[in-house]
Amino acid sequence: MSPREDTVLSTMQDVPLLVSRILTHGSTIHGSSQVTTWTGEERGPRRRSFAEIGARAAQLAHALREDLSVTGDERVATLMWNHSEHIEAYFAIPSMGAVLHTLNLRLPAAQLTWIVNHAADRVVIADGSLLPLLAPLLPHLKTVEHVVVNGPGDRSALTGAADAAGVRVHDYEELLAGKPTAYDWPDLDERTAAAMCYTSGTTGDPKGVVYSHRSIYLHSMQVNLAQSMGLTDRDTSLVVVPQFHVNAWGLPHATFMTGVNMLMPDRFLQPAPLAEMIERERPTHAAAVPTIWQGLLAELTAHPRDVASLTQVTIGGSACPPSLMEAFDRLGMRVFHAWGMTETSPLGTIARPPAHTIGTDQEFAYRLTQGRFPAGVEARLTGPGGERLPWDGESAGELEVRGAWITGAYYNGPDAEPLRPADKFSEDGWLKTGDVGTISADGFLTLTDRAKDVIKSGGEWISSVELENALMAHPDVAEAAVVAVPDDKWGERPLATVVLREGATTDFTALRAFLAEEGGIAKWQLPERWTVVETVPKTSVGKFDKKVLRRQYAEGGLDVEQL
Ligand code: ADP
Repeated sequence: MSPREDTVLSTMQDVPLLVSRILTHGSTIHGSSQVTTWTGEERGPRRRSFAEIGARAAQLAHALREDLSVTGDERVATLMWNHSEHIEAYFAIPSMGAVLHTLNLRLPAAQLTWIVNHAADRVVIADGSLLPLLAPLLPHLKTVEHVVVNGPGDRSALTGAADAAGVRVHDYEELLAGKPTAYDWPDLDERTAAAMCYTSGTTGDPKGVVYSHRSIYLHSMQVNLAQSMGLTDRDTSLVVVPQFHVNAWGLPHATFMTGVNMLMPDRFLQPAPLAEMIERERPTHAAAVPTIWQGLLAELTAHPRDVASLTQVTIGGSACPPSLMEAFDRLGMRVFHAWGMTETSPLGTIARPPAHTIGTDQEFAYRLTQGRFPAGVEARLTGPGGERLPWDGESAGELEVRGAWITGAYYNGPDAEPLRPADKFSEDGWLKTGDVGTISADGFLTLTDRAKDVIKSGGEWISSVELENALMAHPDVAEAAVVAVPDDKWGERPLATVVLREGATTDFTALRAFLAEEGGIAKWQLPERWTVVETVPKTSVGKFDKKVLRRQYAEGGLDVEQL
């Protein structure tokens, strides 16, 4: 459309929003901010400034372009823990115009192989410590030509497999050595692909989501809002959420915009080293899924440490149990609950209570919600018949969202049309999240369940999350997961699987009574099937794996007691 004569044209410069601009900004304006990587060794952690990371990202880009001839939008995968080299890859690959593909190192081998082949990755940058995982896959990776090995690790297994598969093996530091420390980053179209991530497949096959430079840039600004994480260069963020789990929730990019220091746990994700790194490195912020925090809480209870620096904790990925939030409050750590998905970059909501509720008895209830939608994320609720539901805090429906950092399709190969399955995208292009909940008049989302996890009992819905939260509030319960199981009379009924704390004295009848009396659970929603498990199975990103529980039940693998 050509501008009409009376159209006022914007006078603003059209500067593309690129990952390279975030890198250049962070490595100059905030050049002295640091990425600290835990080593678990006596000599202490490794430290690298943002300026050094900028220089090394340029060297990596030169190496990829000149030695490995990566061109255009070729995919360069990473199979790495959280550390400074992974940050270098995060910036170098998109900035040079290629596409960063973060691989989830906890996926089963078959799924990982499928994902690499589907994305047609040409290069894999892998930690030496992860070679035992990568080597057996190599013969099955159809498009991989180069493996770049970072850090120590036994490389012998890789050599044989690589030779057989015709793959060339390089050393990360050797590739970088001597390369120029500046790169003339190309002026890309901001809508081009910058990074890709596959969903972890909690409820189905993995699906590829491709982020653009523009979406990453805008999402990073939203992460930095005071009403989101709101960190500054006075902060240090402990990034526990893996860099392969939706861009570590946007933290690497957001921190380079504002100079927030990063503390990276590498492979030391167990409660004891996490507690130690908090005490020694004194981060002010941390981000991880609830299961990590449950573990840390148990550790801190058993072995108290000085964790007073950590005043802000972002919890998301699955619902934060109220008991966990209360326990962290007692430790002086303030939990901010957030909701998001691979498809939403991921930050979709974050729970910062409205000003007028602070200090009132409404405040805690607001903090327990999944949170408020920021500018840039539009939301609507759809009922079972496709009708729009009001934002009244009561009408529950499937959440649909739209926005500049929300995917409008799934990746389907370099030359193929993206996929828009009808169960995932509405006809008018909104993402159907598969999450069921309510929205209050002031825009706070409360999720009651995932559409696939909700228990459909006699035409009514029972929220598995509500039962789990109520159970986990019992002092004898360490973890609880509730799944739907088939029932002749009601269609489905809840099965409660509980992990008991050491020395627990309770029984199922008492737990059921606790749910009714303390948890406020309606009588018809109380589970009659119960089982004790040693641990709740977890997905590759640390969420309760309800698929596995349902299968174990179906195969008779659980010792179930019926009340
Ligand atoms: P996967 O779908 O494979 O688990 P994602 O990490 O993309 O991978 O998961 C997104 C889903 O996680 C959401 O659709 C939602 O069901 C769940 N989720 C994320 N954050 C929260 C939260 N704060 N409360 C409840 N559920 C959440």
